Parts: sequence; C-alpha cells; structure tokens
Amino acid sequence: MSPDEHNHSELSPVQLRVRALETILSAKGYIDPAALDLIVERYQTRIGPHIGAGVIARAWVDVEFKRALLADATSAIAALGVVNHVGDHLIAIENVPGHHDMVVCTLCSCYPWDVLGLPPVWYKSAAYRSRAVSDPRGVLADFGVVLPEDTQIRVWDSTAETRFLVVPPRPAGTEGWPEERLARLVTRDCMIGTGLPRRAEEIPT
Ligand code: FE
Repeated sequence: MSPDEHNHSELSPVQLRVRALETILSAKGYIDPAALDLIVERYQTRIGPHIGAGVIARAWVDVEFKRALLADATSAIAALGVVNHVGDHLIAIENVPGHHDMVVCTLCSCYPWDVLGLPPVWYKSAAYRSRAVSDPRGVLADFGVVLPEDTQIRVWDSTAETRFLVVPPRPAGTEGWPEERLARLVTRDCMIGTGLPRRAEEIPT
C-alpha cells in the first residue's frame, strides 16, 4: 500500500489486517459477522472487572462462599449467577499477609475474560510475560506495589485451560461495609496480583 493510499484510511495496519481476516473468514463461512459483533459488544460493555470485584466482595463477607471459591472457582462463580458462563478451569488464589500471588501467561495472553473482561495491553507484552517470572518483585515495584522483604511471592502461569483470579486481602477499616461498597475497593490489577485493593479512605460512602 502506498503512503497516499494509507492516508485515506483511518484504520491502523492491525485494524486493516483484522478487517481483511474477518472478511475472508466470513466469506468462507467460518464466522458469522453478526455473532462476532455481539461477542465484541458483550466484552466491551457488559463483561468487565466489575464482575470479578463483585465476586471478591462476596468472598470478603461470606466465609462459606470464600471457601467454595477457593475450592472450585468455576462452580462457585457459576452458582452466583452473575455470569452466564465461566469458561475453562478458573482457580482462585488468596493473597494473605506474608504471601503474595500474581498471574501471568508466559506463553501468550491467557486471562480470565469471564470475570475480568478484556486483558490490559501490558498483560500481553513480552516485557511483562518474561519479567513477571524472572523478577516479580521488580515488576510489582513498577506497578507501585512494594511488599515487605519477607513476603513470599508466587507467580502463576495461565494456560488456555487454566486461568487464575487473585483474591486480595480485605482492606482494614471496612468492617460492616455493604458488598456494593466493598466491591469499589477491588481494582482489576489487584485481581491479577499486580496491584493492591484501594484503601478504605479512598471510597466515599
Ligand atoms: Fe495465553
């Protein structure tokens, strides 16, 4: 394509390539463009980290649910009825004082879409995927997470079959809060393990 032709398009090279692939696949009958639009719309507007945040808030207030979540996250979340479908094998891992878990997909970008929505761009970057394993403490510091020296850090590697959801510790000073307010403490990054929940003072009533 000449630079001049390029100027006529507002799409990036990647977007043009995606459009070309979509055109060929639908022309050959492999995909239905309408169904594809529905899936994209769903992940852009309806499925996002608010779902995971609701799950975490429930785990903070309901000991039985938390036990079920840590035993089998796929079934426990399906039983809540907040998502139509929890794909693959979802494992919930709990961060407690002295022990910090974080999640990566070293091979590609496997991510628990059903509860966290679309993955952040950095999650798919080669830098994150390699350094999360070789230097987790350094990566956490880049995210502004500084843990005590004696905190043990464990890195979980996602696969196409197995995804992870981090259950962060409930922040201090949130006793008696309703679930909706607790959910606002839960950031996407704290469910990946690259962040911590917001502090109680940051959430107005
Ligand atoms: Fe992957």
